[in-house]
Amino acid sequence: MNAERQKPPTPWPMIILFIVISLGTVFVGFVYNNYQKKTLLSETQLELSAISDLKIRQITQWRLERLGDGQFLGENILMVRKFSEFIQNPSDKALQKDIIQSLKSLIENFDYKNVLLLDNQGNVKLAYPDQYDLIGDHLRPLLSDIIKNRKAVLTDLHKASLVGFVHLDLIVPLIDQSLNDTLVIGLLALRVDPQKVLYPLVQSWPTPSKSAESLLIRRDSDKIVYLNELRHISNVGLILKKSMTEEMLPAVMAIRGITGTVNGIDYRNVPVVASMKKIPGINWFMVTKIDRDEVFSVLNGQMKMVIIILILFIFTIGLFLGFLWWNQRARFYREKYETELNRLALVKHFNYILKFANDIILLLDKDLNIVEANDRALESYMYSREEFIGMKLEKIRAAETLSQITEQIRKVDENESATFETIHVRKDNSVFPIEISSRVVNIEGSKYYQTIGRDITERKSVEDTLKESEERFRKIFEESPFSMLITGKDFSIIRANLSFSNLIGYQEEELKSFTFRNFTHPDHISDDEVSLMRLTAGEIPVYHTEKRYIRKDESIIWGSTTVNVIHSQKGEVQFFLVMVEDVTSRRKAEADLIASKEKAEESDRLKTAFLHNVSHEIRTPMNAIIGFSTLLTEPGLSEPEHRQYVDIIFQSSNQLLSIINDIVDIANVESGQVKLNIREMNLNSSLKRLNEQFSYKKKTNNIAITLSTGLTDAKAILLTDGTKLIQILSNLISNSLKFTPQGHIKFGYSLKDNFLEFFVEDTGIGISSEHTGKIFDRFYQVDGTGSRQFGGTGLGLSICKAYVELLGGHISVTSEPEKGSLFIFTIPYLPA
Ligand code: ADP
Repeated sequence: MNAERQKPPTPWPMIILFIVISLGTVFVGFVYNNYQKKTLLSETQLELSAISDLKIRQITQWRLERLGDGQFLGENILMVRKFSEFIQNPSDKALQKDIIQSLKSLIENFDYKNVLLLDNQGNVKLAYPDQYDLIGDHLRPLLSDIIKNRKAVLTDLHKASLVGFVHLDLIVPLIDQSLNDTLVIGLLALRVDPQKVLYPLVQSWPTPSKSAESLLIRRDSDKIVYLNELRHISNVGLILKKSMTEEMLPAVMAIRGITGTVNGIDYRNVPVVASMKKIPGINWFMVTKIDRDEVFSVLNGQMKMVIIILILFIFTIGLFLGFLWWNQRARFYREKYETELNRLALVKHFNYILKFANDIILLLDKDLNIVEANDRALESYMYSREEFIGMKLEKIRAAETLSQITEQIRKVDENESATFETIHVRKDNSVFPIEISSRVVNIEGSKYYQTIGRDITERKSVEDTLKESEERFRKIFEESPFSMLITGKDFSIIRANLSFSNLIGYQEEELKSFTFRNFTHPDHISDDEVSLMRLTAGEIPVYHTEKRYIRKDESIIWGSTTVNVIHSQKGEVQFFLVMVEDVTSRRKAEADLIASKEKAEESDRLKTAFLHNVSHEIRTPMNAIIGFSTLLTEPGLSEPEHRQYVDIIFQSSNQLLSIINDIVDIANVESGQVKLNIREMNLNSSLKRLNEQFSYKKKTNNIAITLSTGLTDAKAILLTDGTKLIQILSNLISNSLKFTPQGHIKFGYSLKDNFLEFFVEDTGIGISSEHTGKIFDRFYQVDGTGSRQFGGTGLGLSICKAYVELLGGHISVTSEPEKGSLFIFTIPYLPA
């Protein structure tokens, strides 16, 4: 579209609005005018009718008064007699004079033009003033009827040949009642000049008016006669006549019996508003009328004002709408100017882009021919403009990408635009990767493709490098022998490498729903949290700790853990890199080392104590043996003394032997030389013997030793190493004896699940819990001090433990200080 030819649209709505407002205004004016006219007309009609009524009343009144005058005169006996005498004696000058005086006063008092005295034959006997002494041809024919009827009569207006002015007569019959009350002796004719007494009544108008007038009319055969003087034509009384055919004349209408108010044309051919009424008692009609022009003159003035106001109103509306239109036009042109300015700026901008853009910009027609290209395109493809414009797209596409063109164009068509990567070829057949952004544009109804291309050689190579380096780092992470984790800011696990999965026992996918708290030993969690907060806050550069982890199989491992913060480019904390090294075996070795060191120290201490004990335990019997052996050599010994000394020597030797046996046994146990000698054994009888031995051996009667057997004698024949079993029980019972000052010692066995469970129970001094775990160790004694209360080497229980285990069983102790101890051990039950 040519913008320069653009014109503002015709403001039809405004024009129509203007026409409607104007027509509306004219219509309102018209209606108003009509209404006003109607109102004015009806007011005028009412006024005319009222005036008409008033005048008819006045005329009727006037006529009645005249007839009353007549009645009064006719019945005035004195005057009638005087007239009668004069008629009979006309020569009586004195009487004549007297009568003339009476007539004169009559005229002056009653306002008549002249008066005639007639005899009953109609002859004028006397007249005053004397120049009017004739009666006209109008009156004469009426006289006989008047005489006959003997009633005063007021004649119609007339103009007779003998009396040359328009007048009417009041004829009064004179009856001399003193003579004969039926005889009319004469007549009195009083002539009325209507100019003087009637017309003023008719012509007067109560309000000032230029054209209003009242008319008296009557019919005269096929004509109408105007009786009074007219306002607009002078001296026409009884002369102006109009034909009855002039139907528009209000006077004609009145004669035709139309009463009320009408519009008509008066005798001057001027339109008038008229009111017609008949005057009662006479054949006269009253027409009151006024010119329509006068009626409407006020309105016309008003209407002129209204028309001026309406014109001004329409003009103002026109001005207002015109102003609006002018404003619209101004805006239209301003917008057009701005659009044009923008367009020019755009064109300039576009040309600039085309020329200097760093991207290749092509315009292709719908058949994919190049129709426009920017400088950068020519430079990139190495063609001249002449060569390039009109070239097919295929020419700049690498051969291997040609098959994709159809699909790519389809996408552009479908979505109006599309972005894709492809490979383009230069004139010298070198290729380069390009990112294309193509868009459909419609120019003057034809389809084009606007294509912006960016050489992405550099980006591709950067991308490749980046990809490679990413891949390398991914591999380092995934395949690293070090266990590594990447967590988010909230410590949720984002990635875990294979090494970590193996370490902790969870798959990477499982770990992704975890945080470190899920597999950290509870002892370390609070420390971890504090340190990680400090790390996040930048208080420490790196967090290193050694802590325990709980594996999926619930086993515990130790991990040397290092946590690093990875920051985003903005310097915000983005990830945590956690590296864990499994140090469980080192930790264990360290613990073992500490334990064995402690053990070695303990052993050393025990051995020292042992040596001390052993030397004491050996020296005591040895001293006895040596001492009493020397005493045996003394001469003079009595037999009892001799036996006593030998007995002491024997017991001390046994004690010594027992100590040596214990040492030898433990030495054998330690060197693994102890062998089992499994034989048939009668358990019940062996235990009974043991019971008897100890009952015999015990030194006090404070202690009761009791045995309970769990099997019948028949079933108590079993296969085991009886010597060792008895040695175990002996050791335990000996200990009980040694550590029980009073109470009882119970021992025995019961059968439990193919095992024989032996027990030795005493009510002795007991063992506190801190020692119960250690008393089975070699050389361990609860009271290991030099000032020992009880003898012993600390070997008995360790030999018992070694033998029980050799026999396939297990030994334990439960004890409470001052209450007593219960030793329990098992051996398999193998019936013989
Ligand atoms: P010893 O030769 O010292 O008795 P043992 O190995 O038989 O050596 O016992 C080790 C230690 O166990 C004893 O010194 C004693 O302190 C404690 N012990 C063993 N049996 C009992 C017991 N029945 N009551 C209290 N303490 C006992």
